[in-house]
Amino acid sequence: MRKMTKCLYCKKELFEKKGIDVCDSCGIGVWGRRMFEAIKKNMENSGE
Ligand SMILES: [Zn+2]
Repeated sequence: MRKMTKCLYCKKELFEKKGIDVCDSCGIGVWGRRMFEAIKKNMENSGE
Protein backbone atom coordinates (compact mmCIF):
# COMPACT_ATOMS: atom_id res chain seq x y z
CA MET A 1 0.00 0.00 0.00
CA ARG A 2 1.29 3.38 -0.94
CA LYS A 3 1.60 5.97 1.74
CA MET A 4 -0.04 9.25 0.87
CA THR A 5 1.73 12.43 1.66
CA LYS A 6 -0.28 15.48 2.53
CA CYS A 7 0.64 19.10 2.57
CA LEU A 8 1.27 20.32 6.10
CA TYR A 9 -0.57 23.55 5.41
CA CYS A 10 -3.61 22.87 3.23
CA LYS A 11 -3.80 19.06 3.64
CA LYS A 12 -3.86 18.59 -0.09
CA GLU A 13 -2.60 15.21 -1.20
CA LEU A 14 0.80 15.27 -2.77
CA PHE A 15 1.33 12.86 -5.63
CA GLU A 16 5.06 12.69 -5.45
CA LYS A 17 7.25 12.44 -2.43
CA LYS A 18 9.60 15.38 -2.57
CA GLY A 19 11.25 15.05 0.79
CA ILE A 20 9.19 18.01 1.89
CA ASP A 21 5.56 17.65 2.92
CA VAL A 22 4.36 20.93 1.49
CA CYS A 23 2.63 21.50 -1.83
CA ASP A 24 4.04 23.91 -4.35
CA SER A 25 1.54 26.70 -3.79
CA CYS A 26 1.90 26.63 0.00
CA GLY A 27 5.68 26.34 -0.21
CA ILE A 28 5.83 29.36 -2.45
CA GLY A 29 3.40 31.21 -0.19
CA VAL A 30 5.49 30.47 2.89
CA TRP A 31 9.05 30.76 1.59
CA GLY A 32 8.73 32.48 -1.74
CA ARG A 33 9.45 30.80 -5.05
CA ARG A 34 13.23 31.10 -5.09
CA MET A 35 13.64 29.96 -1.50
CA PHE A 36 11.21 27.07 -1.97
CA GLU A 37 13.08 25.86 -5.05
CA ALA A 38 16.33 25.99 -3.09
CA ILE A 39 14.79 24.02 -0.20
CA LYS A 40 13.45 21.34 -2.54
CA LYS A 41 16.81 21.04 -4.24
CA ASN A 42 18.49 20.67 -0.88
CA MET A 43 16.05 17.93 0.16
CA GLU A 44 16.66 16.02 -3.06
CA ASN A 45 20.39 16.15 -2.58
CA SER A 46 20.41 15.10 1.06
CA GLY A 47 17.49 12.62 1.06
CA GLU A 48 18.36 9.13 -0.04
ZN1 LIG B 1 -0.56 23.13 0.48
